[in-house]
Formats: sequence, structure tokens, C-alpha cells
Amino acid sequence: MQVVGYHPVPEPALVLADGGPSERVTLTPGTELEYGLGERHCAGTVQNGHHVPCSEPRAPFCPRHTARFDESTLRERTSEHAVYLAAFAPALFKVGITRRDRLQTRLREQGADRGAHLQTVPDGDVARDVEERLGRDLSQRVRTRRKRAGLGERIDEEAWEALLDSHDPLSVFDFEYGLDLAGQPVDETLAAGTVCGVQGRLLVLRRAGTTYAVDLRDLVGYELTDRDTRPLQSSLGSFN
Ligand SMILES: [Zn+2]
Repeated sequence: MQVVGYHPVPEPALVLADGGPSERVTLTPGTELEYGLGERHCAGTVQNGHHVPCSEPRAPFCPRHTARFDESTLRERTSEHAVYLAAFAPALFKVGITRRDRLQTRLREQGADRGAHLQTVPDGDVARDVEERLGRDLSQRVRTRRKRAGLGERIDEEAWEALLDSHDPLSVFDFEYGLDLAGQPVDETLAAGTVCGVQGRLLVLRRAGTTYAVDLRDLVGYELTDRDTRPLQSSLGSFN
């Protein structure tokens, strides 16, 4: 079995397959995962629940299988778009655009702690112009590494409120992921442990008293083995 994809929303899940039909492993809190990680190679493609494997060594996807993430279809470009702000703890703020009907989904996919709908515009091209203009003062991209560093922290309310004041949003959102972390998790790539929850692309697992944060994208492409026998960094060793 290979990890061939993941879904951060609405129900976080890993997608596993070995050619033929794909299956979902839901990542609800309390789920026990007991996989080891074997070889990693391109995850191929899944179409209508059917997996076509690929043996190219590049992971998660070889160049031929990367194109499926290209969303610039005509439907995307010509439908109403929302311009939004997203906040990640403690004080990372970005501007973004998405199809109007995907606004809350998009914010959750990214694991935003807060969101604000700024404007609705007629199409994707106008949205990109507004994003560029606002993006001169704000980031247009927050990397997963930085989101991971803020897991378990609180939003800097003062900074967020100040930003909202200067943008006069149409509506604001507050997202809960139920992670309830006591401290910052250890960075690891593993698929064994008890699921604490998922925030955007980040899966939080507890194993042998240590809490780990796993980027779901880093699991894509791995062949799974029966059990994980690698030694892992424990929380005591995480202070470097
Ligand atoms: Zn491939």
C-alpha cells in the first residue's frame, strides 16, 4: 500500500492505494495509526477513486503527475472570487484569493486560525489584481514550516484586530481544530501513533509520550510497511 494523497477537509484523511481502487483512512482524533514508512516514489494519479501507480523516483509526484494540482481552469477563472485575510498563530498574516463558494473550505485547508472576507470580485483575474495590491504590505504565502512553528500557540489578538481595522472586512471567521496542545510538537515524518487532530496539512500524532507534527504532504509517495521500528526523536531531545 502506498500513500497516494490526503484530504485536509472536511474530514481529514489519508488516501491509500496499490493500483486499482483507493481507500481512505480517516484521521479523526483517537485513531491509532500503525504504519511504518518504506520506499518513497511518485504517488501516480487517482481518477474517480482508481489509482494508477508510477515508479518514477521523484516524490510526492514526478513532473508528469504534478499537473493535476493546476487549478487554473476556465471555471476557476470566470467564477466569483473572494479576497481574504488568513491568520496563523501567533502572528502570521497573509492575503489570498479563492472561489467565493470555497472561502471557508480554503481557509480550513490551509489550517488558518482566523480568517476575514475582504471583498467579492467578479472573476479570478480581478481577484489576482486586488491580491497583488494588498500583497505589497502582506505576505501572499505562509510556508508550512512556519505554520508548524505556531502550532499550539495563541493568535496575537491585538495584531489581528489592528489588521482587521485597517481592512474593514465583510465577515470574520474563527476556526477550531481541537488540538489542545501543551507545547510545540516535534517535527517528524511518521504514520504511527494516536491521532490528536489535523490542522490544515499538519497531522498531530502522540506516540510514547511525545507529540509529533507531520506534514501530510511529506507522507505522500511512501510505501507503507506493517510497523514503524525506526528510533524517533523524543520531546526531550527536541531542544536544540
Ligand atoms: Zn509519476
